[in-house]
Order: sequence, then C-alpha cells, then structure tokens
Amino acid sequence: MINFISRIVFMLGVKKRNPSFLDSYSNLLKTDYAEQSEIIQIQRSRLKDLLVFANNHSSFYKDRFDQVGLNFNRDFDPFEYLRLIDTVTKSELISENERIHTIKNYQFKKLFFSETSGSSGEPLTFWKNEEWDSINRASIARGMSWYGVNLWDRNGYFWGYSFSFLGRLKTSLLDFLQNRFRLFSYYDNDIDKFVKKAKKAKYIHGYSSMIYEVAKKLTADGTMLKNLKLVKGTSEKIYDHYQDAATKAFGQKIVSEYGSAEAGIIAFECPHGSMHINEENCIVEVVESKIVVTNLASFSFPIIRYELGDYISLSDTKCKCGRSHKIINEVLGRVGKSIVGKNGSSYPSLTLYYIFKVLALDYGVVLNYKAEQHVVGKLKFLLDREITDKELVLINEVSKSYFSDALEIEIIPNVLIHDKKKKLKDFESYI
Ligand SMILES: [Zn+2]
Repeated sequence: MINFISRIVFMLGVKKRNPSFLDSYSNLLKTDYAEQSEIIQIQRSRLKDLLVFANNHSSFYKDRFDQVGLNFNRDFDPFEYLRLIDTVTKSELISENERIHTIKNYQFKKLFFSETSGSSGEPLTFWKNEEWDSINRASIARGMSWYGVNLWDRNGYFWGYSFSFLGRLKTSLLDFLQNRFRLFSYYDNDIDKFVKKAKKAKYIHGYSSMIYEVAKKLTADGTMLKNLKLVKGTSEKIYDHYQDAATKAFGQKIVSEYGSAEAGIIAFECPHGSMHINEENCIVEVVESKIVVTNLASFSFPIIRYELGDYISLSDTKCKCGRSHKIINEVLGRVGKSIVGKNGSSYPSLTLYYIFKVLALDYGVVLNYKAEQHVVGKLKFLLDREITDKELVLINEVSKSYFSDALEIEIIPNVLIHDKKKKLKDFESYI
C-alpha cells in the first residue's frame, strides 16, 4: 500500500516536472534487447538531428563545422561528419558557454538549470532541455529495472549536504516526493539512523566512497543488510576494497552507474557485471585511451565530441545477459596533470594504474594508494597499510620499470588516504 502511494506521488511529480519521461522510459525498454544494427540506426537519426540543430542554433558549433567544411545536405553521413569535428573540453564548455548554448536562438518549452564543478574550481553551468533531463532519468530507471527496482521504491541516498534551514526543508520535500532518505554526515549517530531506515529500503545509492564508509561501519557493528535489491555507486571510481566491504555488509557488490551532468548517463552495469553503454542516448569514442562522448539529447547546450576526462577501455565481448549495447571494460582513471620526471620527462597519471595493476596481478601485492607529487623528479606513494620489506622492493622495482630513473619514489605506509570531504583521486599534483 505504501509503495502504491509512493508510486502515485512519484508519477504525479514526474508528470509535472518531466512530461516526456514516460515516453523515454518505454522507448528505452523497447530497445533494451535490440540488435546492434537497430541501435546504430537510432544513433544515426538522433546524431543527424543534433548536428543540424547545433549548426542552426549554436554559433560555437557553427564555426567549428564551417572550419572543417561540413555541408549539411540532405544525405550527409552523421558518423562520417562526427569524426571530422574537433573534440571539446570542459574548459571550453566554461569559456565558450554562451556561444555553445542554443537557448537564445530557439524557444524550448522547458529548461532546467544545471551546475557542476570544474577542475580549476570554476563551475560549469548550463541549461538542460526537458527531454534531456527526462532521458537521463529514464536511462537510470532502465538500469534499475534490470534489478527489479523502481525509481519510486524506498531508497537511501548518500549525497548532498545542505546546512541552511531552507535548504534542508527543500531537500526534505524533494526526498519525500522520491520516497528517499539520506545520509548527511559520517557521525556514528547519523549512520545508525540511516541504517535503521535502510533496513526497510529497496535500494541505496550515491557516492561509492560513502557507501564504503557505511559498509565498514556495518561490518564493524556485526550487522549485515540483506534486504536491498540494489546498491548503486555513482560519480566515483569503485575500488576493489569498496567491493569487498560492500559484499560483507550488503551481500552484494556496488553496481556502477557511469556518467556526468554534462555528458549524461553513459553506462549502467548489468547483473552480469558488464557496463553497457546507454547507446540510444550517447555515442562513445575512445581517442588515445580517453573517452570522447556525444550526448544525443543535449539540444539546449550541445555536447558533441566531449573529452570527459577519463581513461577508459572498451570490451568486444558479448555479454551473457543478451544485451548488445557495447560495453565499457573499465574506467582506468582520471585524465589529470602529468607526472613530471627529471630532465623534462613526463608520464600520464594512467601510469600509476598500470604500476599498481602489475603489483596486484603479477606479484599478488594488493595496495590501496594515492600518489602525490610536490617536486619535479619525486613522487610519493601513500598507502593505507603497513608493508613488508619485500613489498617495498617490489614497489620500487615495478615503478622503475615504468619511470626508469626519472622519478624517485618515496613510500609512506599506514596513512588514511581518503579525505572524506573530497572525492578520492589516485593522483594529485602540487607542481
Ligand atoms: Zn550485460
């Protein structure tokens, strides 16, 4: 009965806020098991629409398309055109913000304001057309349906701090409409309250590092939550040790949802562990190991060939679940500043991923790490446990095989590597 009411409340809210949600959702369910050829047809038609629209209404893209001589005749091949267009970065989305937007040249029925943090501290702000917002929600809803979970089911949320009274009031109302409760802090008392409510929930979701903290607390208290159908992690890399903790505390791993505010929902992990790309709504390319994404619903603020800033790899295998949507094999890490060695040498931060992968796979040395660089030619590895002399030698040897003598490695064992106030980054440069 309570769930029935939640569903009604949710549907009424959705109808008002996201009128095209239900259509988007039912379309996505129809193509859930579509053949790759059908998916490509959908992409072709939507990409064509987006490119023509951007050409007509965004002065930024119009210039870009003109530069490479794109001519939008009736039979143009949108995939061929896409390859010719330069990639766009987050700093361009910020600096060219007004010229990218189409909202001055086209009257959208409804727009949502969106704000997300930029790497240099300057936020990226933009307007999302209603369809874009609805398609995002529908993509999440489809992923959740793979686990027998509905958006309106009772859920616990690890996100969002709001300290003003009005802010909290607004948050409480939004939470009520979405049948949601949330964790506001890491104080034991708050976690206990959250867990009490989570015992009656269908799913929990949010930052994976927060899920990890709660999982550890549960295990330390000797509690296991067996009632959840889905534990969904967003926005951060899900480390192996997070998964171990989640398995102990919830009897299941954290399911990964991959995307960002500007790029949209890019992939959702299926029950067979594959991160299927949300191909009806985005086109993913890999250029020099980096993800480049085109958001097919982004008409108000077109996102075309966007360098999201992650290193990824794609998989060619067909998933046992039967879906033919392409699969992201792994998100390898953030594209950040390079590691700077002696004599002007430099290494992508992705090198760290390989070093610690070799240590784990070839030598059985599994380490949770964070690397920091404060001085050229020197690199600090912060590790969250004690290490043996033998491990110390191995870390140095494997590092040397990648950096040769360009970097001196300093190892600092037994430190807390995760600052709870920030997202965990595996490499931080202070140069
Ligand atoms: Zn699958």
